[in-house]
Amino acid sequence: MIPAPFDYHTPTTLEEAVSLLAQDTDGAKILAGGHSLIPAMKLRLAQPQSLIDIGRIKSLSYIREEGGKILIGATTTHYQIESSELLKNICPLLPECAASIGDVQVRNKGTIGGSLAHSDPAADWPAAAIALGAELVAVGSKGERVLKADEFFVSLLTTALEPGEILREIRIVKPQGRFGQAYQKVPHPATGYAVVGIAVNLILGADGACESASVGVTGVASKAYRAEGVQSAMIGTKLDDQAVEKAAAHVCDGVDPNSDLYASGEYRCHLAQVHTRRALKTASGRVR
Ligand SMILES: Cc1cc2nc3c(=O)[nH]c(=O)nc-3n(C[C@H](O)[C@H](O)[C@H](O)COP(=O)(O)OP(=O)(O)OC[C@H]3O[C@@H](n4cnc5c(N)ncnc54)[C@H](O)[C@@H]3O)c2cc1C
Repeated sequence: MIPAPFDYHTPTTLEEAVSLLAQDTDGAKILAGGHSLIPAMKLRLAQPQSLIDIGRIKSLSYIREEGGKILIGATTTHYQIESSELLKNICPLLPECAASIGDVQVRNKGTIGGSLAHSDPAADWPAAAIALGAELVAVGSKGERVLKADEFFVSLLTTALEPGEILREIRIVKPQGRFGQAYQKVPHPATGYAVVGIAVNLILGADGACESASVGVTGVASKAYRAEGVQSAMIGTKLDDQAVEKAAAHVCDGVDPNSDLYASGEYRCHLAQVHTRRALKTASGRVR
């Protein structure tokens, strides 16, 4: 339970952090809230030569609305998002998702950027990022790139970030029109991680029919994914029980579900269907 020795850097600007990382892209690792990396280091599953602690870079922690977008800095904690009055008003899926993570200690230290960059298959943020069509801004010594959440999660603990890149910002188009959102989760009783987690962002047309449904799923497979079958089955429906049940049946289409001691793949898919139904119904009941 004692990590291997490592050097420790505390940059105070993003430029400094990028430059430190560029000097050792193989051996150095970014440290944000430390709630995934430190446990991995204690178990010696990760043995970085050095840690670049971005927690003191003040300019990486913010939540603001700008030009029709919601901008969230990478080191913004789960708790800051959970308690943001701005987000409760303009994009309630984000605080709802944040509130479901782990416990108070985890939410006080863990960051949205750290969670997305870690790409744990049972983490909550990836489902919300996909459902909200988030853009993830990465910066490295060669400049900045904007990655879509749909392309960001590559596989278990692997993202589309290149070596030497730091995730700096999460951007979400501010939801408009008649929209409703929900996050439904079956938490693992020991850790709180998602056995399944379903994030939904619905938009209704003037006639009350579903104009678009965006559904992100976590916990089920080796990475978070978009449930396209559910989305297309919802379009044009009046969100009645029958339509929702039919659509939710597609949540595991084309997916190889995880099996572990806690839940078989078959049981995970069953849970995913039940909670997709609940998320769709809850989101439709919240349409404003
Ligand atoms: C007991 C416990 C329960 C938990 N329960 C849940 C839960 O229910 N749901 C859930 O989703 N999570 C849960 N977590 C994980 C928690 O949310 C972590 O905070 C999160 O996974 C990682 O964020 P972090 O800021 O701690 O990142 P760190 O642990 O500091 O870093 C994680 C990884 O991301 C990299 N990284 C960090 N920030 C960046 C960045 N900006 N750019 C590039 N790379 C970066 C690091 O190098 C490292 O590889 C739990 C953790 C614990 C210890």
